[in-house]
Amino acid sequence: MSRINLNHKHPMDAYLRTDRIPHIWCPGCGIGTVLEVFLTGLLKSGLALDKVVIVSGIGCTGRVAGYIKLDSFHTTHGRALPFATGLKLANPELKVVVFSGDGDLFSIGGNHFIHAARRNVDMTVLCVNNFTYGMTGGQAAPTTPLTARSTTSPYGNYEQPFNIPYLAAASGAVYVARWTAVHVRRLETSITEALLKKGFSLVEAISPCPTVYGRMNRQPTGLDHMKYYRENSIIKHDADPREVDIEQNGKIIVGKFVDIERPTFSDIQAQVLGKTFGAEAVATGAKRK
Ligand code: SF4
Repeated sequence: MSRINLNHKHPMDAYLRTDRIPHIWCPGCGIGTVLEVFLTGLLKSGLALDKVVIVSGIGCTGRVAGYIKLDSFHTTHGRALPFATGLKLANPELKVVVFSGDGDLFSIGGNHFIHAARRNVDMTVLCVNNFTYGMTGGQAAPTTPLTARSTTSPYGNYEQPFNIPYLAAASGAVYVARWTAVHVRRLETSITEALLKKGFSLVEAISPCPTVYGRMNRQPTGLDHMKYYRENSIIKHDADPREVDIEQNGKIIVGKFVDIERPTFSDIQAQVLGKTFGAEAVATGAKRK
Protein backbone atom coordinates (compact mmCIF):
# COMPACT_ATOMS: atom_id res chain seq x y z
CA MET A 1 0.00 0.00 0.00
CA SER A 2 1.46 3.39 -0.92
CA ARG A 3 1.81 5.99 1.80
CA ILE A 4 1.80 9.75 1.49
CA ASN A 5 5.12 11.17 2.63
CA LEU A 6 4.29 14.29 4.60
CA ASN A 7 7.98 15.13 4.98
CA HIS A 8 8.67 15.57 1.28
CA LYS A 9 10.21 18.79 0.06
CA HIS A 10 8.35 21.22 -2.16
CA PRO A 11 10.29 22.21 -5.33
CA MET A 12 10.17 25.84 -4.14
CA ASP A 13 11.45 25.15 -0.62
CA ALA A 14 14.83 26.68 -1.48
CA TYR A 15 13.10 30.01 -2.10
CA LEU A 16 10.79 29.97 0.90
CA ARG A 17 11.35 30.61 4.59
CA THR A 18 10.07 27.15 5.47
CA ASP A 19 10.56 27.79 9.18
CA ARG A 20 7.52 30.11 8.89
CA ILE A 21 5.30 27.40 7.44
CA PRO A 22 2.43 26.65 8.06
CA HIS A 23 1.35 29.84 6.36
CA ILE A 24 -1.69 31.87 7.33
CA TRP A 25 -3.70 31.40 4.13
CA CYS A 26 -7.05 29.62 4.26
CA PRO A 27 -7.72 26.37 2.38
CA GLY A 28 -8.82 27.23 -1.17
CA CYS A 29 -7.21 30.68 -1.13
CA GLY A 30 -5.43 31.53 -4.38
CA ILE A 31 -2.52 33.52 -2.94
CA GLY A 32 -0.30 30.45 -2.49
CA THR A 33 -0.86 29.52 -6.14
CA VAL A 34 0.13 33.01 -7.27
CA LEU A 35 3.23 32.88 -5.06
CA GLU A 36 4.32 29.57 -6.60
CA VAL A 37 3.70 30.95 -10.10
CA PHE A 38 5.63 34.10 -9.24
CA LEU A 39 8.65 32.10 -8.04
CA THR A 40 8.58 29.99 -11.22
CA GLY A 41 8.34 33.11 -13.38
CA LEU A 42 11.15 34.74 -11.44
CA LEU A 43 13.45 31.73 -11.88
CA LYS A 44 12.65 31.66 -15.60
CA SER A 45 13.55 35.34 -15.91
CA GLY A 46 17.18 34.53 -15.16
CA LEU A 47 17.48 37.58 -12.90
CA ALA A 48 20.20 37.35 -10.25
CA LEU A 49 18.28 36.53 -7.10
CA ASP A 50 20.64 38.53 -4.89
CA LYS A 51 19.50 41.63 -6.81
CA VAL A 52 15.79 40.95 -6.45
CA VAL A 53 13.87 42.66 -3.66
CA ILE A 54 10.27 41.92 -2.69
CA VAL A 55 8.15 44.59 -1.04
CA SER A 56 4.68 43.96 0.36
CA GLY A 57 2.11 46.03 2.17
CA ILE A 58 -0.45 44.77 4.66
CA GLY A 59 -3.13 42.14 4.13
CA CYS A 60 -3.34 38.44 3.31
CA THR A 61 -1.19 38.93 0.19
CA GLY A 62 1.20 41.17 2.11
CA ARG A 63 2.33 38.11 4.05
CA VAL A 64 4.22 36.98 0.96
CA ALA A 65 7.19 39.16 1.94
CA GLY A 66 7.58 37.06 5.08
CA TYR A 67 7.57 33.73 3.25
CA ILE A 68 9.90 34.42 0.31
CA LYS A 69 13.56 33.70 1.02
CA LEU A 70 14.90 36.75 -0.78
CA ASP A 71 15.58 40.25 0.47
CA SER A 72 12.07 41.28 1.39
CA PHE A 73 10.28 44.05 3.22
CA HIS A 74 6.85 43.93 4.85
CA THR A 75 5.94 47.59 4.98
CA THR A 76 3.08 49.58 6.47
CA HIS A 77 -0.41 49.59 4.94
CA GLY A 78 -0.47 51.10 1.45
CA ARG A 79 3.15 52.21 1.55
CA ALA A 80 4.81 49.40 -0.39
CA LEU A 81 5.16 51.56 -3.53
CA PRO A 82 6.95 54.58 -2.00
CA PHE A 83 9.17 52.17 -0.07
CA ALA A 84 9.95 50.30 -3.30
CA THR A 85 10.57 53.58 -5.16
CA GLY A 86 13.13 54.57 -2.53
CA LEU A 87 14.89 51.23 -2.84
CA LYS A 88 15.09 51.53 -6.62
CA LEU A 89 16.34 55.11 -6.64
CA ALA A 90 18.93 54.43 -3.95
CA ASN A 91 20.20 51.30 -5.67
CA PRO A 92 19.31 51.22 -9.39
CA GLU A 93 20.91 47.76 -9.77
CA LEU A 94 18.03 46.17 -7.87
CA LYS A 95 15.02 44.52 -9.48
CA VAL A 96 12.26 45.74 -7.22
CA VAL A 97 8.98 43.82 -7.05
CA VAL A 98 5.90 44.95 -5.17
CA PHE A 99 3.71 41.95 -4.34
CA SER A 100 0.52 43.00 -2.60
CA GLY A 101 -3.27 42.92 -2.56
CA ASP A 102 -5.92 45.06 -4.20
CA GLY A 103 -6.94 46.87 -1.01
CA ASP A 104 -3.39 47.72 -0.05
CA LEU A 105 -2.37 48.86 -3.54
CA PHE A 106 -5.50 50.64 -4.74
CA SER A 107 -7.19 52.04 -1.65
CA ILE A 108 -4.71 52.98 1.05
CA GLY A 109 -1.90 52.95 -1.53
CA GLY A 110 -3.94 54.21 -4.49
CA ASN A 111 -2.29 57.57 -4.73
CA HIS A 112 1.16 55.99 -4.61
CA PHE A 113 0.15 53.65 -7.41
CA ILE A 114 -0.87 56.32 -9.90
CA HIS A 115 2.24 58.38 -9.22
CA ALA A 116 4.68 55.45 -9.45
CA ALA A 117 3.07 54.54 -12.80
CA ARG A 118 3.06 58.18 -13.97
CA ARG A 119 6.78 58.48 -13.19
CA ASN A 120 7.44 55.12 -14.84
CA VAL A 121 9.60 53.98 -11.96
CA ASP A 122 11.40 50.84 -13.07
CA MET A 123 9.65 48.15 -10.98
CA THR A 124 7.13 45.33 -11.24
CA VAL A 125 3.85 45.29 -9.33
CA LEU A 126 2.07 41.97 -8.86
CA CYS A 127 -1.43 42.55 -7.49
CA VAL A 128 -3.47 39.66 -6.15
CA ASN A 129 -7.05 40.86 -6.62
CA ASN A 130 -9.63 38.98 -4.56
CA PHE A 131 -12.11 41.89 -4.53
CA THR A 132 -12.05 42.32 -0.76
CA TYR A 133 -10.14 43.01 2.42
CA GLY A 134 -9.75 39.37 3.41
CA MET A 135 -7.52 39.74 6.46
CA THR A 136 -9.79 42.20 8.25
CA GLY A 137 -13.04 40.35 7.63
CA GLY A 138 -14.30 41.01 4.11
CA GLN A 139 -15.01 44.72 3.86
CA ALA A 140 -15.75 46.29 0.46
CA ALA A 141 -12.54 47.18 -1.38
CA PRO A 142 -11.98 49.59 -4.28
CA THR A 143 -12.19 46.54 -6.55
CA THR A 144 -15.39 44.99 -5.17
CA PRO A 145 -17.77 44.61 -8.15
CA LEU A 146 -21.07 46.49 -8.16
CA THR A 147 -23.83 44.57 -6.31
CA ALA A 148 -21.34 42.16 -4.67
CA ARG A 149 -21.91 41.58 -0.98
CA SER A 150 -19.33 42.32 1.67
CA THR A 151 -19.40 42.93 5.40
CA THR A 152 -19.70 46.67 4.72
CA SER A 153 -22.13 46.28 1.82
CA PRO A 154 -24.48 43.54 3.07
CA TYR A 155 -27.19 44.56 0.57
CA GLY A 156 -24.75 44.81 -2.33
CA ASN A 157 -21.93 47.20 -3.24
CA TYR A 158 -23.02 50.46 -4.84
CA GLU A 159 -19.56 52.01 -5.33
CA GLN A 160 -18.13 51.85 -8.84
CA PRO A 161 -14.95 49.70 -8.58
CA PHE A 162 -11.58 50.42 -10.13
CA ASN A 163 -10.71 48.62 -13.33
CA ILE A 164 -7.08 47.92 -12.41
CA PRO A 165 -5.63 47.49 -15.94
CA TYR A 166 -7.32 50.72 -17.08
CA LEU A 167 -6.05 52.62 -14.05
CA ALA A 168 -2.53 51.30 -14.62
CA ALA A 169 -2.56 52.04 -18.36
CA ALA A 170 -4.06 55.50 -17.94
CA SER A 171 -1.49 56.34 -15.27
CA GLY A 172 1.42 55.39 -17.54
CA ALA A 173 2.37 51.74 -16.94
CA VAL A 174 4.37 50.28 -19.83
CA TYR A 175 3.26 46.69 -19.29
CA VAL A 176 -0.19 45.59 -18.10
CA ALA A 177 -1.57 42.05 -17.96
CA ARG A 178 -4.36 40.25 -16.15
CA TRP A 179 -4.85 36.54 -15.49
CA THR A 180 -6.65 34.43 -12.90
CA ALA A 181 -5.29 31.82 -10.52
CA VAL A 182 -6.29 29.11 -12.97
CA HIS A 183 -4.15 30.53 -15.81
CA VAL A 184 -0.91 29.44 -14.17
CA ARG A 185 1.24 29.13 -17.32
CA ARG A 186 0.03 32.38 -18.85
CA LEU A 187 0.38 34.18 -15.54
CA GLU A 188 3.91 32.83 -15.23
CA THR A 189 4.80 34.09 -18.73
CA SER A 190 3.41 37.55 -17.95
CA ILE A 191 5.32 37.68 -14.68
CA THR A 192 8.56 36.81 -16.46
CA GLU A 193 7.87 39.42 -19.15
CA ALA A 194 6.98 42.05 -16.56
CA LEU A 195 10.14 41.34 -14.58
CA LEU A 196 12.27 41.80 -17.70
CA LYS A 197 10.44 44.93 -18.84
CA LYS A 198 12.14 48.25 -18.24
CA GLY A 199 9.72 50.62 -16.56
CA PHE A 200 6.58 50.29 -14.48
CA SER A 201 4.88 46.95 -15.10
CA LEU A 202 1.68 45.63 -13.57
CA VAL A 203 0.34 42.09 -13.48
CA GLU A 204 -3.08 41.53 -11.93
CA ALA A 205 -3.85 38.03 -10.69
CA ILE A 206 -7.55 37.46 -9.96
CA SER A 207 -7.69 35.07 -7.04
CA PRO A 208 -10.40 33.42 -4.91
CA CYS A 209 -11.06 34.33 -1.29
CA PRO A 210 -13.41 31.52 -0.27
CA THR A 211 -13.45 32.49 3.40
CA VAL A 212 -15.07 35.89 3.13
CA TYR A 213 -15.75 37.19 -0.40
CA GLY A 214 -16.60 33.78 -1.81
CA ARG A 215 -18.83 32.84 1.14
CA MET A 216 -20.72 36.13 1.11
CA ASN A 217 -21.27 35.92 -2.64
CA ARG A 218 -22.04 32.19 -2.73
CA GLN A 219 -19.20 31.45 -5.10
CA PRO A 220 -18.03 27.91 -5.78
CA THR A 221 -15.04 26.74 -3.77
CA GLY A 222 -11.85 24.78 -4.42
CA LEU A 223 -11.57 23.17 -7.83
CA ASP A 224 -15.10 24.32 -8.66
CA HIS A 225 -13.85 27.91 -8.41
CA MET A 226 -11.02 27.13 -10.82
CA LYS A 227 -13.63 25.65 -13.17
CA TYR A 228 -15.65 28.86 -12.76
CA TYR A 229 -12.59 30.94 -13.76
CA ARG A 230 -11.91 28.72 -16.73
CA GLU A 231 -15.49 28.88 -17.98
CA ASN A 232 -15.88 32.61 -17.40
CA SER A 233 -12.56 33.98 -18.67
CA ILE A 234 -12.11 35.36 -22.15
CA ILE A 235 -8.54 35.68 -23.39
CA LYS A 236 -8.26 38.91 -25.34
CA HIS A 237 -4.71 40.17 -25.84
CA ASP A 238 -4.42 43.87 -26.70
CA ALA A 239 -7.95 44.52 -25.42
CA ASP A 240 -8.65 48.18 -24.75
CA PRO A 241 -8.12 48.46 -20.95
CA ARG A 242 -11.25 50.64 -20.78
CA GLU A 243 -13.25 47.60 -21.77
CA VAL A 244 -12.04 45.09 -19.19
CA ASP A 245 -14.28 46.05 -16.26
CA ILE A 246 -15.25 43.15 -14.03
CA GLU A 247 -18.93 42.68 -13.23
CA GLN A 248 -20.28 40.50 -10.48
CA ASN A 249 -20.61 36.97 -11.89
CA GLY A 250 -19.74 38.35 -15.33
CA LYS A 251 -17.06 37.35 -17.80
CA ILE A 252 -13.45 38.17 -16.91
CA ILE A 253 -11.36 39.47 -19.79
CA VAL A 254 -7.75 38.35 -19.36
CA GLY A 255 -4.59 38.79 -21.42
CA LYS A 256 -1.72 41.15 -22.05
CA PHE A 257 -3.25 44.56 -22.65
CA VAL A 258 -0.28 46.94 -22.75
CA ASP A 259 3.35 46.50 -23.78
CA ILE A 260 4.91 49.82 -24.78
CA GLU A 261 8.17 51.69 -24.36
CA ARG A 262 8.73 55.05 -22.74
CA PRO A 263 11.59 56.58 -20.75
CA THR A 264 11.75 55.65 -17.09
CA PHE A 265 11.91 58.06 -14.18
CA SER A 266 15.68 57.50 -13.91
CA ASP A 267 16.22 58.04 -17.66
CA ILE A 268 14.47 61.42 -17.57
CA GLN A 269 16.10 62.40 -14.30
CA ALA A 270 19.56 61.71 -15.74
CA GLN A 271 18.69 63.67 -18.89
CA VAL A 272 17.39 66.72 -17.03
CA LEU A 273 20.02 66.83 -14.28
CA GLY A 274 22.77 65.99 -16.76
CA LYS A 275 22.20 69.34 -18.47
CA THR A 276 23.13 71.15 -15.27
CA PHE A 277 25.57 68.84 -13.56
CA GLY A 278 27.01 66.82 -16.47
CA ALA A 279 26.21 63.22 -17.35
CA GLU A 280 29.17 61.77 -15.48
CA ALA A 281 28.38 63.58 -12.25
CA VAL A 282 24.77 62.38 -12.43
CA ALA A 283 25.85 58.80 -13.15
CA THR A 284 28.25 58.74 -10.21
CA GLY A 285 26.01 60.75 -7.91
CA ALA A 286 28.75 63.36 -7.44
CA LYS A 287 27.81 66.95 -6.74
CA ARG A 288 29.06 69.84 -8.86
CA LYS A 289 31.78 71.74 -7.04
FE1 SF4 B 1 -7.18 34.05 1.34
FE2 SF4 B 1 -9.49 35.23 1.96
FE3 SF4 B 1 -8.34 33.56 3.70
FE4 SF4 B 1 -7.25 35.94 3.19
S1 SF4 B 1 -9.25 35.56 4.16
S2 SF4 B 1 -6.16 34.00 3.32
S3 SF4 B 1 -7.69 36.21 0.98
S4 SF4 B 1 -9.15 33.02 1.67
